[in-house]
Amino acid sequence: MSASASITVRAAAKINLHLGVGAPREDGFHPLTTVYQAVGLCDDVTATGELPGWDLRMLVADHVDAGAIPLDDTNIVSRAATLLAAHHDLPVHGQVSVEKAIPVAGGLAGGSADAAAALVALDRLWDARTTDDDLLAIAAELGSDVPFALIGGTALGTGRGELVTPVADHGTWWWVLVPSLEGMSTPAVYQHFDKLFPDASPTPPPADELLAAVAAGDPKALAPLLRNDLQEPAIDLRPDLGVLIERGESEGALRGLVSGSGPTCVFLCESGDHARDLAGALLRVGPEVVLVANGAVAGAHVVGGDRG
Ligand code: ATP
Repeated sequence: MSASASITVRAAAKINLHLGVGAPREDGFHPLTTVYQAVGLCDDVTATGELPGWDLRMLVADHVDAGAIPLDDTNIVSRAATLLAAHHDLPVHGQVSVEKAIPVAGGLAGGSADAAAALVALDRLWDARTTDDDLLAIAAELGSDVPFALIGGTALGTGRGELVTPVADHGTWWWVLVPSLEGMSTPAVYQHFDKLFPDASPTPPPADELLAAVAAGDPKALAPLLRNDLQEPAIDLRPDLGVLIERGESEGALRGLVSGSGPTCVFLCESGDHARDLAGALLRVGPEVVLVANGAVAGAHVVGGDRG
């Protein structure tokens, strides 16, 4: 691409329909059996080649805590650029801006979405033509949720979550998402899991029954099968999340669940109208931000750009 070309790539937040956690492995990671779903709450990453050096900007929505996002080379977008450039023996270069709607440290893998979008955008901008396998390997090095952010849809994750296989999904799933103003540290929630469950099996619980309900596309069948092994530790650390889930269920959600390591809580609904009604009811009783999203949506994909 020419120096002034630009490309915009969109990547979605994820929720875990099933998050089965096993006892920590020797490398410290927890083995997971998880079912991811990409939902329509997205960050857009735009990359241009206008600058000779590297420049990263974050443009955040009102409900996103800008202060919690590092702007130095620890930002996962800069880490993605460094790994991709090293893979092709290229200098890291470009101007990248991230329009961020996914809350930070929310259990929605927003950083992972940014990383996946940045990999796709920079691969195009640099005309690097990375193979899918290499892109997935670089994504896995960046973080356990990044490969899923590349492929999107609904998928089974194993290993530490980085080994991703798409699954059959014949539903349109409607969710109400309630982010929290204060994020939670994923490692702290896993540490608390280890404290609460010192005898956890090394083999994480499977998701077979839930996968059948996802394939069938029936939200009422899916609701009782939703599972998150990090929910109990998350609620133990943040009891307000338990109160919120009870509230959402008493307002009519088919089921409420902590998303990943929290603190975002998600509520499964029967339809778009049901989700909008529930969102209105929840807004009247407390949370400042309540979002409606449906799934499954695509993984990181190009939504705009020009050839300069
Ligand atoms: P996960 O469940 O994958 O840990 P999460 O949704 O709980 O994800 P993220 O929003 O991905 O959390 O952020 C985790 C941490 O990563 C933040 O606390 C922040 O300091 C750091 N971070 C680095 N780069 C980014 C980025 N581009 N966007 C958000 N956070 C980032």
